[in-house]
Formats: sequence, structure tokens, C-alpha cells
Amino acid sequence: MNALEVRGVSFAYGARQALTGLDFELSAGRFAALLGPNGAGKSTLIALLTRLYDLQQGDIRIFGHSLAGEPRQALRQLGVVFQQSTLDLDLSVQQNLAYHAALHGMPRREAQARIDEELERQDLGERRHEKVRTLNGGHRRRVEIARALLHQPRLLLLDEASAGLDPASRLALGRHVRNLCREQGLSVLWTTHLLDEIEPGDELLILHRGERVARGKAAAFGDDLA
Ligand code: ADP
Ligand code: ADP
Repeated sequence: MNALEVRGVSFAYGARQALTGLDFELSAGRFAALLGPNGAGKSTLIALLTRLYDLQQGDIRIFGHSLAGEPRQALRQLGVVFQQSTLDLDLSVQQNLAYHAALHGMPRREAQARIDEELERQDLGERRHEKVRTLNGGHRRRVEIARALLHQPRLLLLDEASAGLDPASRLALGRHVRNLCREQGLSVLWTTHLLDEIEPGDELLILHRGERVARGKAAAFGDDLA
């Protein structure tokens, strides 16, 4: 089963071509890093995946569900952590999650059970009553991951998740997310422009000027990369 299939996706902002005939797939249960310099088309791809923009050409399947044909089912399988945090700093961890669940119409009981489960999974159980403002950047990221996983999607998309974190927190976050992948079978797409975030075991996808330039196990790219 593929977590993600991108087929013939092209996208232009007016006359400016941002993605050109992009084609790739990601197997389920893997940690995949989407790497590319500024302007490569990463944000555009994410905007299409999250349906911020409509597809212009081609299709994207998330666990077999076509984004063009059955967007609800496709999005059901997707959890997203955006580059810009949208946590309410003056609410507690628990309150942020409960608010989000309510917003998505999740019944209260189910929401509470899912929140408990997810806080446990993200090692945040002890922080649940603390205001987000008091948490460091790495912990805030984990709250956002918990929130993105509340509806139990199978693909987690993180857009420059490590931006603004100090080196130790960046490393810890990467390790944490790779563990979710390894131990719980979550599929992950992690976008970054930083080479040093790539590990040898990662599935690597390199974008350049809107086109896929390489794809494979990071280790296969040699010592320069991994
Ligand atoms: P990345 O996220 O990898 O930096 P983007 O998807 O933001 O890349 O950009 C891909 C291309 O599309 C670039 O040439 C960029 O200048 C262009 N682009 C991105 N957003 C817009 C926009 N809103 N209007 C016009 N051009 C855009
Ligand atoms: P319903 O229970 O009304 O069928 P869904 O669970 O299908 O609602 O959610 C509706 C939309 O909101 C879906 O596209 C889903 O991906 C999204 N969604 C639901 N819960 C969350 C969540 N916790 N985080 C992010 N998106 C969510």
C-alpha cells in the first residue's frame, strides 16, 4: 500500500510554473524527507496536499483515495503540522486539543479518550495542564503533532517542523517522529531545506525547480548526504 501517490502533478501561479509533471510514491509506514532549496516547490506541493489550492493537473492519492475524486476520504488519512504554529499560547495543552476536537465535531467522550492516548504517545502526559506559553519549542511541536493525529490519520505531514528550534531540540524532534514511524507504523512526510536533518535510513525525495531530481534511500546518496 502506498501512503502517497503523486501522478503528473503540475501547478502554475499565473505564468510562473511551480511544479512540473511531478511523479512519485511513498510506501506506507516510512519516514520520508522532502528536501529542496527555497523555491523548489515544497510549499506548493503541501498546499495541494492540504487542499489549500485545487489541483490544476494530475492527481494525488492518499492511501488510495484520490484528492480530486474523494477529497474527504483522502484528507481523513492526513494529519498536518504547519510551519506556522496555530496553538493558543494562553490555553493549556489539554485545552488546545479539546478545542480542536470540538471544532472538528468529535464527540466529547471520544475526544477525551483520544487526547489521553495521544498525550501519552507524544510524552506530554505530565504537561497537559500547563499553558502552551510555558513550553519550549520542541514540546510545542509535540503538542501540534498530538493535535494533528487526533483523528487518527495514517499519514503525518510536517512542514519545516524544526524551523526555529535549537539544534538539540531539532535532533530530539526528528528522533521522536522517526520513532512514531518505526514503532507505530505511522507514515511521515517531513519537509526541510536542511541537509543535516536527513538520516541514512530515510526515504529521500529531492525537489528542484518544481521537478523531482532524485528519490531513494538516503544512504544510497553517499556520505555527502547522510
Ligand atoms: P519552496 O516551498 O520549496 O520554497 P514554493 O512552492 O514556495 O517553494 O515555490 C515554488 C515556485 O513557485 C517558486 O518559483 C516561487 O517563486 C513560486 N511561487 C510560490 N508561491 C507563489 C505565489 N503565491 N505566487 C507566485 N509565485 C509563487
Ligand atoms: P466527521 O466526523 O464530521 O465525518 P471527519 O472526521 O471526517 O468529520 O473530519 C472532517 C474533516 O476534518 C476531514 O477532512 C478531516 O481530515 C479533518 N479533521 C478531522 N479531525 C481532525 C483533526 N483532529 N485534525 C485535523 N483535521 C481533522
